[in-house]
Amino acid sequence: MSRLVVVSNRVGPVKDAARAGGLAVALVEALKSRGGLWYGWSGKIEARGGDTAKVEDVGQLTLATVDLSPEEHEEYYNGFANRCLWPLFHYRTDLTAFDRRYYEGYRRVNAKFARVLLPLLRPDDTIWVHDYHLLAFGDELRQMGASQRMGFFLHIPFPAREVLTTEPHHDTMVRGLFAYDVLGFQTEQDCERFRDYVVREAGGRADGDKVYCFGRSVRLRAFPIGIDAEGFSRIAATDKDARRQFEKAKAGLGDRMQILGVDRLDYTKGIPERIRAYERLLEDYPDARRAVSFLQIAATSRGDVQEYQAMREELDGLAGHVNGTYGEFDWTPLRYLNRPVARRALAGLYRASKIGLVTPLRDGMNLVAKEYVAAQDSEDPGVLVLSRFAGAAQQMPEALIVNPYDIKGVADALQIARYMRLDERRERHKALMARLVREDVAHWRDDFLDMLAAVPRHADVAVAS
Ligand code: UDP
Repeated sequence: MSRLVVVSNRVGPVKDAARAGGLAVALVEALKSRGGLWYGWSGKIEARGGDTAKVEDVGQLTLATVDLSPEEHEEYYNGFANRCLWPLFHYRTDLTAFDRRYYEGYRRVNAKFARVLLPLLRPDDTIWVHDYHLLAFGDELRQMGASQRMGFFLHIPFPAREVLTTEPHHDTMVRGLFAYDVLGFQTEQDCERFRDYVVREAGGRADGDKVYCFGRSVRLRAFPIGIDAEGFSRIAATDKDARRQFEKAKAGLGDRMQILGVDRLDYTKGIPERIRAYERLLEDYPDARRAVSFLQIAATSRGDVQEYQAMREELDGLAGHVNGTYGEFDWTPLRYLNRPVARRALAGLYRASKIGLVTPLRDGMNLVAKEYVAAQDSEDPGVLVLSRFAGAAQQMPEALIVNPYDIKGVADALQIARYMRLDERRERHKALMARLVREDVAHWRDDFLDMLAAVPRHADVAVAS
């Protein structure tokens, strides 16, 4: 079996992968089982950047990392990745920074990543590249002569053609993706949008899972990412930290029902709309007052991007408004925590919450939705209220599916969830859990790598267009 080389913006963690979650665990397992190299940014910003990799062996696998200069970090990471591609691919053209300097920095760093990796590669390696930071990486590597099998997985949505074409470099970006042998997206809809762009914008053609354009071809498929459903379920039920958090939450709640939201603080997650929907529940259904308690975890991320600072202020105001309007001496309707919670404790919190409220405005997958379901007690499970605009909605039709923009609709779904009977909750949970176990993170990884192993080596392909 050929050696696996995983390329992602950040590397690891390897030693404590379980703490970071399913993806890190799944990748580390694959890297260990077939011997492998994990390569990416070290997370360090050094004045002179750096043009060679730091290589270290950790057990059976090798880590290779490279530093970024402050300028590279600003243009590639904060700039093009997080202020252009992230909002654009989540349909927020209003927040997208169309700055050519950022694009050029992004190209330079993708080329540098390729240049630094090249001498570490073996001819029969299989290269698996992850996410929107590295759209141009494959193209750079091919131009340097690499002919290894190379696949790319996009963790965020692929946007509609009209949205993508607002970015002046859309053509080069999509052309670059054809350097890969396999393109994996989260959902069938993402694949549809990619095909639509290729056929209508770029004059290519699609035939089954193959797409032809720019004199090249690539295989395209949806690989919805999963979680380690059985493992997470076990943690929620038996882990010491999870149990402690569960007991603490239950004791604090008394007879009240907890509604839980868990997100990175991000404008794609629909947190302000969610708080408004909760307020609407309290307004329209007086029986909900004092009977529920909404806990929103909003862990700060990307604190040095300006849009995130503004969001924080908006949420502080909204939370204050709800508590000011509906709060009583002995009841705080909404608790809002602006710090991350460790995954094991989170498992306990999920289990202690009778409603999981997951309402992103746009999300590639949303793993919180899956973790919430996996953490439930199957004898008395809670109800998941899930946005139709999360990739996860495609695999989770037994959740209460809502439109997060429809404040009244979400409030009504919360009320339905509050009164859902035990037999219906069990039935829905059983169906959701069965799919989570079947389509877990190991299945996702193996599916992708099987498809990549089945394509002919890039060097041997006679390209048809
Ligand atoms: N998470 C966490 N602590 C927090 C908030 C989130 O460990 O306080 C984890 C959560 O368990 C999940 C991940 O972060 O595994 C978030 O993944 P998701 O796909 O929901 O959203 P993303 O942040 O990738 O957009």
